Amino acid sequence: MSWAPEWKRVEPNPRDLGTSWDNRGGGDCGWSSLSDHLGPRATGYREPPLCFCFNNNMVGVVIGRGGSKIKNIQHLTNTKIQIIKGDSEAEVKIFGSHDMKAKAKEAIETLVKKRQSYNSESNADNATSQSRDDNAAFQSPAESSLRTNNTIKQAQPLLDWDQIRAESMEWEKRKWADLPPIKKDFYTESKETSLMSETEVDNWRKENFNIICDDLKNAEKRIIPNPTCKFKDAFQQYPELLKNIAMAGFQKPTPIQSQAWPIILQGIDLIGVAQTGTGKTLAYLMPGFIHLVSQPLPKEQRNGPGMLVLTPTRELALQVNAECSKYSYDGLKSVCIYGGGNRKEQIQAISEGVDIIIATPGRLNDLQMNNFVNLRSITYLVLDEADKMLDLGFEHQIMKILLDVRPDRQTIMTSATWPDTVRRLAHSYLKEPMIVYVDTLDLAAVHTVKQDIIVTTEEEKRVLIQEFLENMSPKDKVIVFVSRKLIADDLSSDLSIQGIPVQLLHGDREQSDREQALEDFKNGRVKILIATDLASRGLDVDDITHVYNYDFPRNIEEYVHRVGRTGRAGKTGISVTLFTDNDSKTASELIKILKRASQSVPEDLITIAEEYQFREQKKDIKRRSRKYQGKSKRFY
Ligand code: AMP
Repeated sequence: MSWAPEWKRVEPNPRDLGTSWDNRGGGDCGWSSLSDHLGPRATGYREPPLCFCFNNNMVGVVIGRGGSKIKNIQHLTNTKIQIIKGDSEAEVKIFGSHDMKAKAKEAIETLVKKRQSYNSESNADNATSQSRDDNAAFQSPAESSLRTNNTIKQAQPLLDWDQIRAESMEWEKRKWADLPPIKKDFYTESKETSLMSETEVDNWRKENFNIICDDLKNAEKRIIPNPTCKFKDAFQQYPELLKNIAMAGFQKPTPIQSQAWPIILQGIDLIGVAQTGTGKTLAYLMPGFIHLVSQPLPKEQRNGPGMLVLTPTRELALQVNAECSKYSYDGLKSVCIYGGGNRKEQIQAISEGVDIIIATPGRLNDLQMNNFVNLRSITYLVLDEADKMLDLGFEHQIMKILLDVRPDRQTIMTSATWPDTVRRLAHSYLKEPMIVYVDTLDLAAVHTVKQDIIVTTEEEKRVLIQEFLENMSPKDKVIVFVSRKLIADDLSSDLSIQGIPVQLLHGDREQSDREQALEDFKNGRVKILIATDLASRGLDVDDITHVYNYDFPRNIEEYVHRVGRTGRAGKTGISVTLFTDNDSKTASELIKILKRASQSVPEDLITIAEEYQFREQKKDIKRRSRKYQGKSKRFY
């Protein structure tokens, strides 16, 4: 967006972003619509904005405390509003439908007028305030309270919020009125599944990575369906799909698939707390395929894609797309949309017609804002690795994308972790979901990995990795994780000089180089991949035999993700981790993980953890005594 240089933008407070169940996918514009690059259109509309000006000193009045007023107007009128402060006047631009732009303008003007009339009355009051103050001593308390009440009454804006709210709901209804009906329930429980006793189901869940399920519906809880322990229990009516699965050679559904399929196939929104490597992609893709081909309106007449999968990284997007193509069903066409990829080609692919879009939020948002993609036809939405998307700051883009996706869609969300931020996202965008945890965020993958920890020093690391690489057998394939791009570059050039073929994966590399690196590693042309944490999630190469943590990651969750790059799809793997005094903060958490996965814990690691704890305790005592001394001094 080009701003007149001498003008200042009014920056909103990002903390004011609000979400609620009722607003899901609807008109919750929040502040982002003010500050982000809007492009000259509001959701679903291509009309020019409605522009007008008011005095600069009214900007605060219109925006309200913490953005409350402007946010309310945007929300209730489903418009997007920009306010650009000039030298003396502020320009307002309202994006949205014709009627609602007028409503929003009226609401803003009412606020301005009220304040102006309040100001002029206050000025008149001020002119006589001196004499009033002089007489104050002679005023009765009743008189002064009456005066205060009057002032409060005058300051209140006289907007008819109820009417605006009703109109907004009406507009929202009209916005989605012309869409075809959605069908969501495709599940017929097999005899075998329905005959499972409660004890059998409980035992199955315990034995399958301790699966825990819950219904998050507030009112009357629904029955959580029994798991579909065999592929045919879930897809008996879809022989074509069963054929695809058989071709892949899979023996049985993974735990997350068994429990997720009967829920998703019933049309219920689902949150899957599971990591990459657990089979979560097919857990949402398979029911998605059935959903797409079984809609009342045939896909040829839908005029846009039916499924959208949002992923945090291009690597994961490409991987999901690969799974999509591998198991695809009934000629469903998918396209991968990600930043760094060829934009023109992506636009071309969309315009040729696709059924499934797999995208990173940034690029999709770009194409959405420029009207290259129609999201109104989407009925099946997936937010894959939601925690990672939030970590990467995609919340605003997701919010803007979902404004254009019909609210009565089916939504699936996966996440490796379940912190408050992810809960909030789920609360905003899923409707009465069920949740399936696989080993409660925990280490599903690391149970199949032998985890070796080498306690060492920073100086010794080079020698240790050199030894390790020299002792690799021809069958081995290793991913070496480092903390920084610089170390990755340095290590890879060192090895290349020695004639050891390596590939390199980090965020500063060109997209084509990154894809080439992955390709070389996947097909075995190189057996060593040096990577930053960019590659710790979503990387699906199922013949990695070793993970080498040259640098310990920033947090223990990342450790779990890294380790999970090996020991995939039922195989075993080995992880080697170099641990130094610099990593002492995470020592006790690492010990817990090692113990839970029945791994041996080196004595040196225990010592580091104890020393760290001891140091922390000492620091704490010092802090407290300093606080106490400080108080004493002041006291005396
Ligand atoms: P994901 O968790 O989706 O990254 O899946 C990890 C890997 O498991 C992928 O390579 C899948 O092809 C594979 N996979 C998915 N479902 C199954 C299954 N039922 N049995 C064995 N492997 C599977």
